Amino acid sequence: MSDQHFDTRAIHAGQAFDPTTGAIIPPIYQTSTFVQDGIGGFRGGYEYNRAGNPTRTALETQLASLEGGEHARSFASGLAAEDALLRSILQPGDHVILGNDVYGGTYRLLTRIFGKWGVETTTLELSDLDAVRAALRPTTKIVWVETPSNPLLKIADIAGLAELAHTAGAAVVVDNTFASPALQRPFEHGADVVVHSTTKYLGGHSDVLGGAVVLRDDALLEEVAFQQFAVGAVSAPLDAWLTTRGIKTLGVRMQRHSENAQAIAEWAGTRPEFETVYYPGLASHPGHDIAAAQMSSFGGMVSLALADGAAAARAYVESTRLFQLAESLGGVESLIGYPPEMTHASVRGTALAVPENIVRLSVGIESAGDLIADLEEALGRITR
Ligand code: PLP
Repeated sequence: MSDQHFDTRAIHAGQAFDPTTGAIIPPIYQTSTFVQDGIGGFRGGYEYNRAGNPTRTALETQLASLEGGEHARSFASGLAAEDALLRSILQPGDHVILGNDVYGGTYRLLTRIFGKWGVETTTLELSDLDAVRAALRPTTKIVWVETPSNPLLKIADIAGLAELAHTAGAAVVVDNTFASPALQRPFEHGADVVVHSTTKYLGGHSDVLGGAVVLRDDALLEEVAFQQFAVGAVSAPLDAWLTTRGIKTLGVRMQRHSENAQAIAEWAGTRPEFETVYYPGLASHPGHDIAAAQMSSFGGMVSLALADGAAAARAYVESTRLFQLAESLGGVESLIGYPPEMTHASVRGTALAVPENIVRLSVGIESAGDLIADLEEALGRITR
């Protein structure tokens, strides 16, 4: 299986047909428990749904294969996956290096939950390798990398960071939510662990919440699996099944998301209403060369800074018609958001606060022409 092409594995890894009925699609094992043939006589190795479920195994096999990991564990949400991973690695007194542009919930989890537990976090510009080298401490256990980052689409050099972190005995964790394994496979660049909010591109249809940890290390898998079992934030069978179904079309979706986003970013670059266009597919983006080296396309997320400031940005997100105003990203339908008061409200007033004149687009797979027309008409509505 592992030497097959990505798109083939997306459809077949972990997805063997049901041998009892011949159903082409593996069933949703909507069950809480499994009958034992005598005490401890587990027919398929399954005992209780918090410990494992065949529908979840199907998703975990698919995820591990696509990322090029050995193992994956699927969770009830991306943050639940992050929490289990952090509990598995960190002890009180440990230190984490985090990019200075990151999903607000990750920053909140590290500083407000793990901070109380005695974990220290340093946020810095991950593209500055000298700054990262200087920030590493004997207690640094994790360099946490989001690339492209949320919402400013900053690019970090995974291989460069891995070299630095490994010299200091720290692990590199990559949140691969924005790129997905269709465009970027962090293990190929030296990462130790990959995490996902599968709610986004992997699920792909805005109908399910989920998260994943993908690993290569057996000992760490054991700890993550223990945390999952002991704490309990597992994905439900139906949620795992929906995510599996979404993943089958990941490759073609990501290609179309990327093409549409590139077209929108290029159009936005011609409009004076936008003072900055954040998209790593533009040659003018400071991380473009690294992105081109570690990604196969640049993804579906674009952020735009309105030249007329915060009021214009707030008005703009309420003026589009096709782009719906909503949290989240990665679905087939286009969304628009105002990060300072939505996805990044939790970092407002901190060192991670995002510009107040920014809007974030999750570019869907509709017709690029219709999307650009919507964005253009909305400009007309706010400048009238
Ligand atoms: N990581 C990134 C990059 C995200 O954008 C999000 C959510 O927006 C998360 C993690 C958290 O995932 P979830 O909302 O599934 O808990």
